[in-house]
Amino acid sequence: MTSTLPPDDGTLQIEGDVQFDGPIEAAALAPGATANDSHVSNLTTIPVVDGVLELESTTRAHKIGTLAVVVIPFVAFLAAVVLLWEKWIHTHDLIVLLTMHVIAAFGITVGFHRLLTHRSFETKPWVRGLLTAAGSLAIEGRPTHWVADHRRHHAYSDEEGDPHSPHVGRGSGFWQAVKGAWHAHVGWMFAPGQTPVKRFAPDLLKDRAVMAVDRQFPWFIAIAIAIPAAIGFALTGTLLGALAGAFWGGAVRIFLTHHITWSVNSICHMFGRRPFVTSDLSTNNWILALPTMGEAWHHNHHAFPTSAFHGLRGWQKAMDPSGWVVLALEKTGLAWNVKRVSDEQMAAKTR
Ligand SMILES: [Zn+2]
Ligand SMILES: [Zn+2]
Repeated sequence: MTSTLPPDDGTLQIEGDVQFDGPIEAAALAPGATANDSHVSNLTTIPVVDGVLELESTTRAHKIGTLAVVVIPFVAFLAAVVLLWEKWIHTHDLIVLLTMHVIAAFGITVGFHRLLTHRSFETKPWVRGLLTAAGSLAIEGRPTHWVADHRRHHAYSDEEGDPHSPHVGRGSGFWQAVKGAWHAHVGWMFAPGQTPVKRFAPDLLKDRAVMAVDRQFPWFIAIAIAIPAAIGFALTGTLLGALAGAFWGGAVRIFLTHHITWSVNSICHMFGRRPFVTSDLSTNNWILALPTMGEAWHHNHHAFPTSAFHGLRGWQKAMDPSGWVVLALEKTGLAWNVKRVSDEQMAAKTR
């Protein structure tokens, strides 16, 4: 079964499509929020804004953890460059790196983003659980926190309250742009205050498949290293092979996945085309389309957040690998109620 976005997708807030422990009750609504609240207009299922955004305090452990996951893979990458010069990398290391990246990246784009954040299709609980587990291997934080941050990004896109806008609070000029890009890419993770999950993702807290993974998130850091290490050991039978697997398929791979994901937050709000009328400064960037698994059609996504497909026209569709995955799930009966944008809806929003 497929469905087209309703004519005014901006008011698509609470639907009967939340499929686990019943629909989101009105109690999940922030006080005073209405489905037509302008800040809510880009969200899909969860109304979140009551005019005041209160962040939860960031713990010391959170700060240290964030620093570790950003810095350690970066140091690993620098070491990787040195090792490359020493010709210490083998074909199987690269295959493990790319395989782990593809699994984690689709977990983020199809799982965390199109499914959990925007409900752009429905699926079985075990598929939801698997996609959530795959996304957790990206080590971009707990699924609930990822979704809460991203819904907040849509609720306040490029306005005060957006966790990672390159534009908010910036003046003009080159250095302001550089500072904005840094903030959107990685700096925002060090900003004080955490997006409250209870307010932005109450549906996930009731989703048993998602929470089963979320609760075990710290283990995924170990798993993300252990899997490539085990493959390295299996292929070479040596401890050095295991270490090389952990290094290339683990640390370097996490670095690669991080920066590809983060480039959507930074580059795709700065460089590229903006064919639709939206209230933010998101862009479509074709160069990043394939590396980001189709997420770099980010302006299309801001114009139609609930669409399961971010490549909307002609060759864009061919450059939306996450869309291919959703199509494959639909063809095999594992996805239904797949949200699509009609030609009329596109025409209505075209500049
Ligand atoms: Zn955006
Ligand atoms: Zn989104």
